[in-house]
Amino acid sequence: PLGGGVSRPTQSPPRKTDRVGLDSLAGARGSTDGATPPWDDWLAEAAGAREAAGLTRRLRPRGADDGLVDLAGNDYLGLSRHPEVRHAAAEAAMRWGGGAGASRLVTGTLTLHEQLEAELADWLGQPAALAFSTGYHANLSVVGALADRSAHVVSDAHIHASLVDAVRLSRAQLTVVPHNDVAAVRAALAARPGVRSLVLAESVYSVLGDEAPLAELAEVCTEHGALLVVDEAHGVGVHGPGLVHRNGLAGRSDVLVTATLSKSLGSQGGAVLGPPAAIDHLVNTARPFIFDTGLAPASTAAALAATRIARTRPELADTIRARVAGLASAFGIPSPAGAVLSVPMASPEAAVAAQADLLAEGVRVGCFRPPSVPDGVSRLRVTAGAGVTDEEWERAVKAIDTIVGEVR
Ligand code: PMP
Repeated sequence: PLGGGVSRPTQSPPRKTDRVGLDSLAGARGSTDGATPPWDDWLAEAAGAREAAGLTRRLRPRGADDGLVDLAGNDYLGLSRHPEVRHAAAEAAMRWGGGAGASRLVTGTLTLHEQLEAELADWLGQPAALAFSTGYHANLSVVGALADRSAHVVSDAHIHASLVDAVRLSRAQLTVVPHNDVAAVRAALAARPGVRSLVLAESVYSVLGDEAPLAELAEVCTEHGALLVVDEAHGVGVHGPGLVHRNGLAGRSDVLVTATLSKSLGSQGGAVLGPPAAIDHLVNTARPFIFDTGLAPASTAAALAATRIARTRPELADTIRARVAGLASAFGIPSPAGAVLSVPMASPEAAVAAQADLLAEGVRVGCFRPPSVPDGVSRLRVTAGAGVTDEEWERAVKAIDTIVGEVR
């Protein structure tokens, strides 16, 4: 979407495929008569086009405690505010300082990182792990380090933006397959025999909330000698050690897991888990790892504390599953695999109106509409986290029931 264009500036609305809403602005980057519009004109035009298309995004800062029932975030187990997690972060900052101080290969690898990596690997049943400063970096690193122009990447149509960007940066040949279509994955791999291939999936899809057929995908990958990369951002924690583990796929040499520390683990950062040879390859070649400062001590310690809590308190994940199942049945939609319930709405306007009405009732939910959703269906995204009390949850469900039921 950001490729420079040479045509005259245009006001046409962004295409549906344009996730950031900037496709239509490419033309504003230059002109055929050689005169480049001044940057401030270009920016004003870009803002105007976004506004006209109703696609302006705004940051809405929240206070530390705004009294809202938050069903929009990803702090699924409610651990970001757990006292042990907060204390661990504070103590680590006091002991190690505010930052890691350097990239991991210079002096930015702390014993704290090694502790976190060992404990994450042990929990997820993987032989090795590597921590990153974000889950986004973890995904950029895996694809970038393992795929180049000569490689073939087979990606689910609903894969997260970080993996989309990772494939773009890698310049690998790409086949996008329909969502959860194992036969299409098999056909894509069979079409390029002998080419080094990666298959990308999320264990639980971030917006749709459904689950990938991991066992079947792994089987197809084995048949064709491909590597399966599973993003467990929404699986780890909500499903204990994740769905790769639950499907008996942990520790295999042809399966790699990426994870984030910023959702169920209530911190910030990411991780890649898998065979030691793959992890070693990342340390040596992954640019978003090599040229990035190590994960901050406070974030590392918070994730470590949260890992210990998540491991020893499976009832938190049980609460999520009970809540999400109850809400799904109220809407007559299938129970999702993770903590996220995706409620399809009749129109973008209906979705936006329901979100605003819920906010007025003290309940915050997410709202997705085109072009952020590849299938064009506007939806509310409700997170059934364990971090809210039973009373708050019941109050929120009542409001959702009334408001969403009315406008859907
Ligand atoms: N993968 C998926 C599926 C995600 O939902 C996210 C976060 N939105 C990421 C990766 C990126 O993780 P992080 O926020 O830690 O960068």
